Amino acid sequence: MALVVQKFGGTSVANPEKIKAVTERVLSYSKKGDQMVVVLSAMAGETNRFVDLAHQMQKMPDPREYDVLLSTGEQVTVALFAMAIKEAGFDSVSLLGDQVKIRTDSMHTKARIVSIDSDLIQKHLAENKVVVVAGFQGITDDGDITTLGRGGSDTTAVALAAALKADACEIFTDVEGVYTTDPCICSVAKKIDRISYDEMLELASLGAKVLDIRSVSIAKTYKVPVHVRSTFTENEGTWVVEEDENMESKPVTGVAYNKNEARITISKVPDRPGSASKVFTPISDAGIVVDMIIQNTRGGDLTDMTFTVPRTEYDKAMQIIDSVVSDIGAEGATGSKDIAKISVVGVGMRNHAGIASTMFSVLSREGVNILMISTSEIKVSCVVEEKYTELAVRSLHEAFGLDDKTQAIVEEN
Ligand code: ADP
Ligand code: ASP
Ligand code: MG
Repeated sequence: MALVVQKFGGTSVANPEKIKAVTERVLSYSKKGDQMVVVLSAMAGETNRFVDLAHQMQKMPDPREYDVLLSTGEQVTVALFAMAIKEAGFDSVSLLGDQVKIRTDSMHTKARIVSIDSDLIQKHLAENKVVVVAGFQGITDDGDITTLGRGGSDTTAVALAAALKADACEIFTDVEGVYTTDPCICSVAKKIDRISYDEMLELASLGAKVLDIRSVSIAKTYKVPVHVRSTFTENEGTWVVEEDENMESKPVTGVAYNKNEARITISKVPDRPGSASKVFTPISDAGIVVDMIIQNTRGGDLTDMTFTVPRTEYDKAMQIIDSVVSDIGAEGATGSKDIAKISVVGVGMRNHAGIASTMFSVLSREGVNILMISTSEIKVSCVVEEKYTELAVRSLHEAFGLDDKTQAIVEEN
């Protein structure tokens, strides 16, 4: 008898028929004697609908109320799911974040899980119930509802698997696993059989939304092997696991893109100690995560500072920057939302030279101008104009030998 945590995303529970189909799949495990904990997302499109509704009420929706609203989508699916299980003649219980005591910090709209009390789930499992938990939501010590950030049901599932010391954690979605790039924009993308936590962390943080980044970081910390697979087939998917030697043989494992970025430039910032701190402290106090930062000296003790923020936080960041500009004696701030970050990722980069230069040559050959660059041990990222996203992803995918039957061309330094 195994304890299995399975998470089903929005497209897997998009309507009553799909919910019934998923219950059958879950019950096939229960019938073998496995203890089942099921984590569900809201029906596909529901969370977006709530976001739209919220913006019809307030230009910048109040974060506490936003979470109260967004958490309702998962309440619907868990209740329907438990009903479908009972209709099939088995016992089940639906539980919300506060009932499971998924405690989070109070950073509304992107709260972090602090602790989970697994006692209630264990009690229901011991009573042979399929336990159905609402993903994406938690509760603060003050009793306020929080949400974990878009895609956060993955995080609920992996955190529960860690807390319950589950034998398996399976993330069911609308593709067959983790691919070399988003199969929706590159038809020759290949399914990866095994990927390391570190590579998956990079891919997720760089835009591959197939797994929420926080779910991967919890999986890495608690050594939870995660199986990402399709709801609609029985095929083996991708295992996200600890690194092994075979993973280093290829220089690049995957290509990711992120269109949820915006760029802000503050021009003619006086080049003196404290300027950067005056810019970035209020941004970070507002809970906005800055990604790339570039500072260019202009001469005459002036610099330009360019940085990127999530596109959803652009208006808030601009408001803050507008008030900081005069304080630091800068000339002004401009910004653009029409950018995308394209990244190549692979643990093999550690011992293959020339990845960055190949990336730059490919983009130049395709006429794509690079606006910003950043690198780390296992990734190279370039910010480009958003309209070049698909072109850039497909040409890099081909150039690094990720398409079927192509050979990697890597220019040596
Ligand atoms: P769910 O609703 O099941 O959580 P998501 O929409 O969050 O599903 O994630 C699955 C989607 O992630 C896929 O449909 C695919 O378009 C996208 N995706 C982006 N990059 C990748 C990748 N490298 N591998 C697989 N899917 C990816
Ligand atoms: N329903 C939430 C979202 O759409 C959480 C999730 O699906 O993981 O972001
Ligand atoms: Mg998701």
